[in-house]
Amino acid sequence: MSDRSDQELGMRRNITRRDFLNGAAVTAGAAMFSRQLFAAEQCELVRSEAEKHSPYYPPALTGLRGSHVGAFEAAHCLRDGTFFDTFPTAQDTGERFDLIIVGGGISGLSAAHFYRKRAGANARVLILENHDDFGGHAKRNEFRVGNAFRLGFGGTYSIESPAPYSNVARGLIEELGIDVPAYPKYHDAKLYPSLGLHSKVFFDKETFGDDRLVTSPASFSGGEKDYDSANQRDAWKEFIAQAPISAQAKADFERLIHDPTDYYPGLTSIQKKAKLARISYANFLRDVVKVHEDVVKVYQAVPQPLFGLGIDAVAAQDAWGFDLPGFRGMNLDPAPGKGMNRDAIPNAEAEKYFFHFPDGNASIARLLVRNLIPQAIPGNSATDVVLAKADYSKLDSESSPVKIRVNSTAVRVKHIGDPASAKEVEVAYVRDGKVYTTRAKNCVLACWHVVIPYICEGLPEKQREALASAQKVPLLYTNVALRDWTSFERLKTNAVYAPGCYHTRMALDLAVSIGGYECARKPEQPIVVHMMKTPCQPGRPSREQHTLGRIELYNTTFETMEREIRSQLARTLGAGGFDPARDIAAITVNRWPHGYAYEYNSLFDSFWLEGGETPCEVARRPFGRITIANADAGAYAYTDEAINQAWRAIGELKS
Ligand SMILES: Cc1cc2nc3c(=O)[nH]c(=O)nc-3n(C[C@H](O)[C@H](O)[C@H](O)COP(=O)(O)OP(=O)(O)OC[C@H]3O[C@@H](n4cnc5c(N)ncnc54)[C@H](O)[C@@H]3O)c2cc1C
Repeated sequence: MSDRSDQELGMRRNITRRDFLNGAAVTAGAAMFSRQLFAAEQCELVRSEAEKHSPYYPPALTGLRGSHVGAFEAAHCLRDGTFFDTFPTAQDTGERFDLIIVGGGISGLSAAHFYRKRAGANARVLILENHDDFGGHAKRNEFRVGNAFRLGFGGTYSIESPAPYSNVARGLIEELGIDVPAYPKYHDAKLYPSLGLHSKVFFDKETFGDDRLVTSPASFSGGEKDYDSANQRDAWKEFIAQAPISAQAKADFERLIHDPTDYYPGLTSIQKKAKLARISYANFLRDVVKVHEDVVKVYQAVPQPLFGLGIDAVAAQDAWGFDLPGFRGMNLDPAPGKGMNRDAIPNAEAEKYFFHFPDGNASIARLLVRNLIPQAIPGNSATDVVLAKADYSKLDSESSPVKIRVNSTAVRVKHIGDPASAKEVEVAYVRDGKVYTTRAKNCVLACWHVVIPYICEGLPEKQREALASAQKVPLLYTNVALRDWTSFERLKTNAVYAPGCYHTRMALDLAVSIGGYECARKPEQPIVVHMMKTPCQPGRPSREQHTLGRIELYNTTFETMEREIRSQLARTLGAGGFDPARDIAAITVNRWPHGYAYEYNSLFDSFWLEGGETPCEVARRPFGRITIANADAGAYAYTDEAINQAWRAIGELKS
């Protein structure tokens, strides 16, 4: 994406970077997975009992994080049917638990929390997690730039949900001490506006013929209702005038925004919504509103943060739910239409329930861990947890009834005997290049549903198929620590939508100070800029896009990602004096090939329009002494769902 040399981009600068095996090596590594891959000299993160030794501290690692090297090779070998050729035997640890939980994300940690309420604080619980850190998608990234300490969210960004938090999920958040209504106290919402910073759109020359940063009247993330006040009219006029799009596209854009038209005259609201549920927003713009292709290109990446898909694969009915333009003249009944994605159904009450910790919902994961294993995370409030340093050597301690065993991938889960009458479940897991078994009275699978058919023996075929259909949405959440943000200030922007670029969004960190943590308030101070990419393949069905995107993420080297990041920042901010070689202090790319839970889509999932039992309901059926949690179990990519499903899974356990 860049004409600049690697030297100008700062590719060889000594930033803090941890990239001992890059993406290409990983793909090869997965294919020839062997004990050697886990040998200490090749991959220090999975060396024997690594967590017990200082300085084991995953949040401070930079480079390629998220689904990191060492976390997924065993699971990929299971998928490919080669795992047990390599590891025919397993060693029994001799441990016996009341409950084994597979998956140390918010759902797995919540399941442990709910189980202890039911079975008592002395209940013996083992949580197995394949990554080097707990929290799953709720991942903490730490940076030190000079004397400044900066936090970033490597995944789950905030407490928020399109639907109101249930009593169960809200109850847990309150029990952890998080005071959601107090959020405005911590967030300096006036900081960026006080410096005159706005949302902008970056038009790139490959897509639009010219590199241009244009002040935008909208954030291009949906929810824009005001197109017609005098200010907004002027702002849209200016934006359209500045945008490097054709004259016809400019006229069409004006018409789309300011000319309410009923594109389906003569139909009832129900009939119109039925049509809108079956046409993509891209095709609606193209074939029904008949706008120039440049306008489609401007909107292409708008729904990516919610769906991981562009408007080619999002229904026009859902676009209506997000308040995207084109529907104001259609007299649609405001009630949600059949087949709408739950993300697209506006709910004012739910929107008020918002809280962002500087490390995102990693703070929720850390609060749960503190409850489960108090010695692992010091402190006693939901605010002091922000700066509390976790002691990873305490996660899996002999003396604690709850153990979190990271770097441990469950590879087989089976009942001892007939599932209907079995008294125990055996779980085999790989760790430090060896396979171990251990047993418990019960097991909760709080891991990704696509993994379960490969690890859980004896599941009914229909359930296996339903589990396998929960294709996760791939994403990159990139955090770049900058030495300062004077270039943003000079260009008067804090957030940029870039529909044609590698990362389609970038934004300065939200100005949140909490529990002794201080955000950057002056442009001369270090800051984290967050960038987001969804590796879509526009024009294909949603699940296919996700599969191809996942392959792309596993096959892209960190070096390629780094070059894209430096180049995009340079092109976007260069006019503000940004120098990638000088200004970038560290880069952490959180790679999530298995990201958001798959949410049903009226364009591709006919059952979602027709009604009846959904795949996630089939997938989460209890199986003997094994129950199934994770946000996948609700086909809903939110923390509240991860908690709700944990609560249900614990409720379904046999006594
Ligand atoms: C980039 C990103 C941003 C997000 N932002 C938000 C947000 O702002 N707000 C929100 O509410 N939600 C957000 N989400 C959705 C997020 O998925 C949920 O909120 C929640 O964190 C999911 O928790 P979980 O425990 O269900 O799944 P996960 O967090 O995925 O945890 C499951 C864990 O199981 C592990 N696992 C899988 N297989 C095995 C195995 N065989 N053995 C051992 N462990 C295994 C996985 O590695 C993973 O760590 C985001 C998701 C992503 C990817």
